[in-house]
Amino acid sequence: MSTQSLTLNRGMLILVATPIGNLGDLSVRAQEVLRSVDLIACEDTRTTRTLLNAHGIHTPMQALHQHNEHSATPTLIDALQQGKRIALVSDAGTPAISDPGAWLVAAAHAAGVTVQSIPGPNAAITAYAASGFLAEHFVFAGFLPATASKRRATLNTLKGPNPIILYEAPHRVAACLADLNSVFGPTREVLIARELSKKFEEIARLPLADANTWLTQHPHRTQGEFVLIIGPGEPAENIRPEQDQDHVLRTLLDELPVSAAARVAAHLTGASRKNLYARALELQSAAADSADTADSNNPAHSQHNDTSG
Ligand code: SAM
Repeated sequence: MSTQSLTLNRGMLILVATPIGNLGDLSVRAQEVLRSVDLIACEDTRTTRTLLNAHGIHTPMQALHQHNEHSATPTLIDALQQGKRIALVSDAGTPAISDPGAWLVAAAHAAGVTVQSIPGPNAAITAYAASGFLAEHFVFAGFLPATASKRRATLNTLKGPNPIILYEAPHRVAACLADLNSVFGPTREVLIARELSKKFEEIARLPLADANTWLTQHPHRTQGEFVLIIGPGEPAENIRPEQDQDHVLRTLLDELPVSAAARVAAHLTGASRKNLYARALELQSAAADSADTADSNNPAHSQHNDTSG
């Protein structure tokens, strides 16, 4: 860790993450960069003006948004090649993450321009950190398609054991949660992170079955900005093939009654206790049948019976 002072070389593109709701979340280094560069390329000059004014920064700005990203990029690359230092920001959060900027960054790499990225706010990571979901990996899916059929089709392609982070617009959040419920099932957990870092921030973790009730509990809950995170599914390594389940059950049945064996097996394999109980009964009766057959075919046993009788 260090608070090394800023050295901006000539001809650099510097991505600067900006607050997602709380103006106080602009880091000291981000402020320093925005104050020192020659130009700030920003999504909406009015939004960035508010941020700059709050920090007494007066650097010139140029709009770079989804509608002019392609046409504005060559001029910015020229300026960078002439030695200008340009910061890139979006309206909120980390630029180029579900926001404009990736086109300019790609062009900078292609032109041999140095790219630097100043870490800072990002809605997805802020929400994920607060989820408490235990998983080794997560999927960042950003915005889903706006139409229900395409949204469900995309969700089906994302199905798997890892948590999935989504951005969703307030007017679609109810429909999206309903689709999540139908694709992932009512018992799968979801994290709803609303208005992060703002006055009415709410973070709720609940089964998908309860999401609509939560959302409609207060009228304001369908407003604002949302990150939705689908919790982890059953870990792939816990979904054992049936032979494995039988092996676990047989081993346990040597030591335990059927109901206890099914309970422990469910814990170990992640499979349904009810199904394991039914299977345990089958295995137990098959074992009893084969023991009877073995007894009746075993001359030593017959002899023993004979002698004891
Ligand atoms: N680049 C941004 C970032 O780094 O997070 C994301 C920009 S994307 C256009 C905007 C979406 O991010 C919103 O629709 C919402 O899903 C999510 N988002 C942004 N700010 C948020 C906040 N304060 N609380 C919850 N979600 C937020």
